[in-house]
Amino acid sequence: MKKLTVDFEFRKQVMDYHIGSDLIKYCYQCSRCADNCPITAVTTDFYTTTGYNPRSNILNALLGYKDAIFSADALTIWGCTVCDTCDEVCPQNIELTEIFTLLKNQSVANGDAPDFIYSQAKAIFDSAKAIPTQPAIERRREQLGLPAVAEPDVSEFQTLLKNIGVDKKLK
Ligand code: SF4
Ligand code: SF4
Repeated sequence: MKKLTVDFEFRKQVMDYHIGSDLIKYCYQCSRCADNCPITAVTTDFYTTTGYNPRSNILNALLGYKDAIFSADALTIWGCTVCDTCDEVCPQNIELTEIFTLLKNQSVANGDAPDFIYSQAKAIFDSAKAIPTQPAIERRREQLGLPAVAEPDVSEFQTLLKNIGVDKKLK
């Protein structure tokens, strides 16, 4: 079994990033987060216990086991859909999704994020929409008597994203 080493800088980043108080940094591994996570439910093989697991992620993050997170497969970081269920059920009020956002941001910064993340980010950058408008959607809205979707100001949106360096990250 590979020996885990503590990355103290990473551990500090996790602690500093978390929006809660000092008292709520301690996960006691009750597994309520994993028991209620929809991604764990659909990805876990109960015979081998492989699959997405927020409980393991939070433990590795809080202990500073950076390699255990970033050397694992993409599901470990990108499996979370940010449904927020784990945040709501954690008895310690740990904001798991805050920490998982840090992990995702570091994965992007390292250039390790899956391709679909970059292509979706580029699509949003190009159109200022998370979901580009489709003719079928427009027709349906018309049939239902709904107003046309207002077109965003792409140039203004791109200026905002450039100010926080998103264009450089996409390159
Ligand atoms: S629900 Fe909270 S305390 Fe329980 S394992 Fe998950 S993060 Fe830890
Ligand atoms: S926010 Fe992520 S980790 Fe938490 S329950 Fe939802 S999918 Fe699972």
